[in-house]
Amino acid sequence: MDRSGGQGTRIAVVGCGYVGLVAAVCFAEIGHSVICVDNDAAKIRALQAGQIPIHEEHLAELLALQSSASLRFTTSIAEAVRASDAVFIAVGTPPLDNGHADLSFIEEVAAEISGAIDSYKVIVEKSTVPVYTSDWISKILRRNGVDPSAADVVSNPEFLREGTAVRDFLCPDRIIVGTCSDQAFRVMTSIYGPLLDGSYYRRRASADFLSHNPTAPPLVRTSPASAELIKHASNAFLALKISYVNTIASMCEIAGADVDEVAHGMGLDRRIGQQFLSAGLGYGGSCFPKDLKAFRSLGHEMGVDVALLREVERINERQIDGFMGKIRSIMWNLRNKKLAVLGLAFKGGTDDVRESPAIKLVRQLLAEGCEIVAFDPAAMTTARRVLPEEGISYVDNALDAMNDADALLVLTDWPEFREIDPQAMKVQLAQPIVFDARNLLDRELMMQRGFTYVSIGRPAVE
Ligand code: NAD
Repeated sequence: MDRSGGQGTRIAVVGCGYVGLVAAVCFAEIGHSVICVDNDAAKIRALQAGQIPIHEEHLAELLALQSSASLRFTTSIAEAVRASDAVFIAVGTPPLDNGHADLSFIEEVAAEISGAIDSYKVIVEKSTVPVYTSDWISKILRRNGVDPSAADVVSNPEFLREGTAVRDFLCPDRIIVGTCSDQAFRVMTSIYGPLLDGSYYRRRASADFLSHNPTAPPLVRTSPASAELIKHASNAFLALKISYVNTIASMCEIAGADVDEVAHGMGLDRRIGQQFLSAGLGYGGSCFPKDLKAFRSLGHEMGVDVALLREVERINERQIDGFMGKIRSIMWNLRNKKLAVLGLAFKGGTDDVRESPAIKLVRQLLAEGCEIVAFDPAAMTTARRVLPEEGISYVDNALDAMNDADALLVLTDWPEFREIDPQAMKVQLAQPIVFDARNLLDRELMMQRGFTYVSIGRPAVE
């Protein structure tokens, strides 16, 4: 029920992480009244003071546009639930040792929500969860005394990517709503209404946080089980695409072909598409590795042959070793070699280092006795928390990292690394050797400037 007199829906978002915070700010931006909850009191204090705890383009700008009436922050789930008609659960679902998703945060939050339900609520599962989680949430509500008519559970998976999260949220390819309840479906339709009817895009025409010429996304209604499977199946497919192109890259290296040319030629086929066909160090981040594991564990439990998904993981794990081999083949011994590292985040545009291939590679280099000087435009604070202290130092810009280094390693696809002048690199480096794990730099240019240049799936220049 929209009780705000046409002023949007009253929404609570539980979990102020990469998904919850972006969702909360964007829901406020499209006209809803939002209350965002986290049990991390320091995070809530920072947000109440207008500080954003994560690096995400346009998020601070959009937060600043919201009034205290349209967006506020609290540590109390009960307060948020009472003040809202729809409650989005966006807490983490990290992996357990057995590969399954740890759903204990979801259970905890569902139980807390139950205690505060005082009128009809739509409980929305935004976190990535295995199929049948919405059934479990419904059971938790019933066990805690919630009348079946007082709440419906809906699956509304999120497809945003860190680094472009605001744009992805506001201009999604599709919105999936998995529910058996018409009443809940109406609430969800009204929440996404300003995107579905295009009115939000007209209101914010030419805003640089939207994609160019945004079109209204389709809203797809499914069963809750289908919606849950759509999310896991999509992430597994994207991971599969990355492992596939990395396999093609290995063939290109032997055949003397260029994987970027091959991927471009493949991707022009609309059935294949250009996205997620970039060869490199493999996928990382807080989603693909854990979601693939959870999906595989689920398939295994169901008795479905998921060997294909295991192979996707295996190929991904081999990328780091393969790249270490390339470094050794040029540098010979690694002990005491000074290496400049550009990029620690799992991808450009974020400060997130969870399951970052760059971090895994740096750990191996440190274990082999290398001295690392690192720079990342956003992820040095988060990287410091997870990397050993010894053997690594951090500098404030890319060229300083290269000062007197035996080689340069480009490990994250930050677009600004592409802009670094090769001549300036050459002046800084002790040896003009570059290992580009993201095929970010211009190979021809590096060749012309006399670098030893090693990348992925492209002929090495020596
Ligand atoms: P995150 O770790 O950045 O944020 C989770 C937040 O939930 C944290 O701030 C944590 O303090 C809070 N939290 C945990 N337990 C809580 C509780 N009991 N009460 C209140 N707050 C609590 O996680 P994330 O990256 O935002 O991911 C959240 C979910 O969304 C995961 O299931 C993830 O798989 C999924 N997802 C993530 C992305 C992404 O790119 N990060 C994209 C799509 C989907």
